[in-house]
Amino acid sequence: MQLSYDLHNHSTASDGALCPSQLVETAAAAGVRVLALTDHDTTDGIVEAGRAAQELGVILIPGVEISVTWSKMTIHVLGLNLDIGCEALQQGLAGLREFRIWRAVEIGERLERHGIKDALAGARSFSSGGLISRTHFARYLVQIGAASDERKVFSHFLVQGKPGHVAGKWANLEDAVAWIHAAGGQAVIAHPARYKMTRTKLRSLLRRFVELGGEGIEVISGSHNRDDARLMAAHARDFGLLASAGSDFHAPENAWIQHGRLPALPADCRPIWQDWVLPDKAYNAAGC
Ligand code: AMP
Ligand code: MN
Ligand code: MN
Ligand code: MN
Repeated sequence: MQLSYDLHNHSTASDGALCPSQLVETAAAAGVRVLALTDHDTTDGIVEAGRAAQELGVILIPGVEISVTWSKMTIHVLGLNLDIGCEALQQGLAGLREFRIWRAVEIGERLERHGIKDALAGARSFSSGGLISRTHFARYLVQIGAASDERKVFSHFLVQGKPGHVAGKWANLEDAVAWIHAAGGQAVIAHPARYKMTRTKLRSLLRRFVELGGEGIEVISGSHNRDDARLMAAHARDFGLLASAGSDFHAPENAWIQHGRLPALPADCRPIWQDWVLPDKAYNAAGC
């Protein structure tokens, strides 16, 4: 029996709706055997998730999703299999969280000028005391009826050209990859089809990423349809990148792909986990 991998998930440590142990329970119940917790710009949920995973026979892969500014665009780079005690990684992530605090205040002020009161406090009330994401603003704006769902909040208020937009000033690609490598991890370009880049632009990103020693690209993602997956598998092959698979789970009610039900990687992909040595208990739990 093949192990079921889901290598991209969020908890309340960033903008997920479930706390780390609930996330692991939900994933375990759905049949996931190898689960990466990849919160935005923090590893704060990893210890709790690891404890729950131990109890449930799930292999927890310590990860993170780093916000990066590349060529004036925001992209996301996953770090998988990290030593979360790594100083260089933690210092880098701390800098990104500082920017998030400044940006949250700025978003709150801009929305205030647009007639939406107390958005910062409202976003905080959804953030479980962890970092603040635009998702928390979106949840608050839905609560007060400023839009009917989170997607609409983004498109009406939070993206470029809209009243609450603040440009990202995230990590350099070089730095993000270096922090992941310093922590002994593998770097993976997250959900490449989401960036809506031209083919030329995406290939220049992948070329640079490979130059920097980046290891992988998400082929199977909650944000990818079948054609996206096929295209990303071809890019993986062209650039000699390993392929990853993750749902990008945030909340049960709007999971793009249910835990444990990710499509298989295309046959010609080399999985990011090809050289991972996993503890025996994962195989035992999977009945192998
Ligand atoms: P941030 O990192 O705080 O700028 O927030 C980015 C997060 O917002 C992403 O990780 C998604 O979870 C969420 N997000 C981005 N765009 C959308 C959208 N159009 N609809 C719903 N959620 C979105
Ligand atoms: Mn998110
Ligand atoms: Mn992302
Ligand atoms: Mn994500």
